[in-house]
Amino acid sequence: EEKRSLNFIEHIIEEDLRNGFPREELHFRFPPEPNGYLHIGHASSICLNFGLGLRYNAPVNLRFDDTNPIKEEQEFVDAIRYDVEWLGFKWAKECYASDYFQQLYDWAVEMIKNGDAYVDSQTSEEIAEQKGTPTQPGKSSPYRDRPVEENLRLFEQMKNGETPEKGHVLRAKINMASPNMLMRDPVMYRCLHKNHHRTKDNWKIYPMYDWAHGESDFIEGISHSFCTLEFLPHRELYNWFLTKVGEIEKVRPKQREFARRNLSHTVVSKRKLAQLVEKGIVSSWDDPRMPTISGLRRRGYTPESIRKFADTIGIAKRENLIDVSLLEHMIREDLNKKAPRVMAVLDPVKLVITNYPEGEEEWLEAENNPEDDAAGIRKVPFSRELYIEKEDFKEEANRKFFRLTLGKEVRLKNAYIIKGESVVKDENGKISEIHCTYDPKSRSGSGTEESMRKVKGTLHWVSAKHAEKAEVRLYDRLFTVESPDTDKEKDFLEFLNPDSLQVITAFVEPSLKDVQPLDQFQFQRLGYFNVDKDSTKEHLVFNRTVTLRDSWGG
Ligand code: ATP
Ligand code: MG
Ligand code: MG
Repeated sequence: EEKRSLNFIEHIIEEDLRNGFPREELHFRFPPEPNGYLHIGHASSICLNFGLGLRYNAPVNLRFDDTNPIKEEQEFVDAIRYDVEWLGFKWAKECYASDYFQQLYDWAVEMIKNGDAYVDSQTSEEIAEQKGTPTQPGKSSPYRDRPVEENLRLFEQMKNGETPEKGHVLRAKINMASPNMLMRDPVMYRCLHKNHHRTKDNWKIYPMYDWAHGESDFIEGISHSFCTLEFLPHRELYNWFLTKVGEIEKVRPKQREFARRNLSHTVVSKRKLAQLVEKGIVSSWDDPRMPTISGLRRRGYTPESIRKFADTIGIAKRENLIDVSLLEHMIREDLNKKAPRVMAVLDPVKLVITNYPEGEEEWLEAENNPEDDAAGIRKVPFSRELYIEKEDFKEEANRKFFRLTLGKEVRLKNAYIIKGESVVKDENGKISEIHCTYDPKSRSGSGTEESMRKVKGTLHWVSAKHAEKAEVRLYDRLFTVESPDTDKEKDFLEFLNPDSLQVITAFVEPSLKDVQPLDQFQFQRLGYFNVDKDSTKEHLVFNRTVTLRDSWGG
């Protein structure tokens, strides 16, 4: 691990340890709500919490914050487990807030008995109206002083599903004049007659986040509960609830906040990402354009690149926008070390070597990865007819064009030096073939004087007869602006990039015939590509992970 200075979260822990907090009591958690797939923002939180676990040799729970059955599903639980593991982390315990429903209920009953909670029978609109404003105290509910016996009876009826969904709520009795609006008798329970993906129809009431979260932390013995900044005003309530429950001598968790991470040219909110899926703007949660962990994986991102990204941006106290080019930089660096080099032609034009014997072929040696000595070599077929990229040829060009033109020489990668001779055009004047000659003594690696000759350009190519056809999906940013969801006037969907996906047919070298989904390659001179999960032996499909250089905004 690289040496770096402590972040402010680690300083908080260090200070607690200096003040006598027992090291063996350190315990962290990552608490996703299973209402969608994890995204790159969550990766920051995962790396923070599990990173602390590794640093302090402390357990980290994976806690599903599953208190809202309207939006939560088993599919999301499974996806979250898979993604956290894939990122390379191991949780000590897999926990569910729903496992604590009975305990939470029992505590709520205690609170009613102690005069700390009451059943309110007003509508949510009435309750909202009485909340007041930050500068004006709220008004008490007419039910605030309901007798304990009546509260207990009503609460039990709520639990048994004997009252309608919007009939009552349970509220904590705190302070309707508190300057913190969240302390003005917050709702603890609502009636909801919905099936829960785990507890099925056992419960007709569900705890609200503020009530369930801190208590879940407490039950699990979490020492430090890190959440994003919007929960700062909730901290007072988090602590208040903790004074109402449980054995006194048990560790009281400490909530601290860090800034949400935002990535440019995308949105990191499950709710908004769900809209992209529901409206069919992307194909699925793991569409390679999505900033979800599963989308990034399918796109060709590695766990190492995502962890490095999270470590590099670190933990902040203030929100800011991280440019997506930093994430792209991380995957380029990682794949530069790992990805085998191969040749593929995305926009082909035929190249005929007129002095190469017809019907003949040879298999030339090609280095798999100059960055990795162990990667070895492979053989690529060479013959009289090849494909090269259209943009690698111009009939006439200025001195700065280091590719193929008529009368000039370039090298074909791993092969020979060729010279442009003439072109064949179709009736519309478009070039259908380029004719060239080659220097038979110039083969790469042959050691001849001719092979050492320096020419300005090197082109990639594939042998026409041997090449495999492949579908290639070229991705671009999903949104045309840096921050699509901060515009006050416009909906984020108005900033969609209409060209975020381009599907083309390419030719790839025959060594790629047997690739498997997620295999990664550098298509030389073009970028990093991986094999999509849709790919089969009969129909190869590649995703462009990232170009070799940052070409955005050029
Ligand atoms: P979303 O708005 O995308 O649903 P959320 O915060 O509601 O996000 P949770 O499933 O509750 O999603 O998040 C689990 C944990 O991940 C929480 O501790 C949350 O604070 C953290 N987290 C979520 N989004 C980000 C982000 N963009 N940057 C850093 N941490 C995040
Ligand atoms: Mg949440
Ligand atoms: Mg959310």
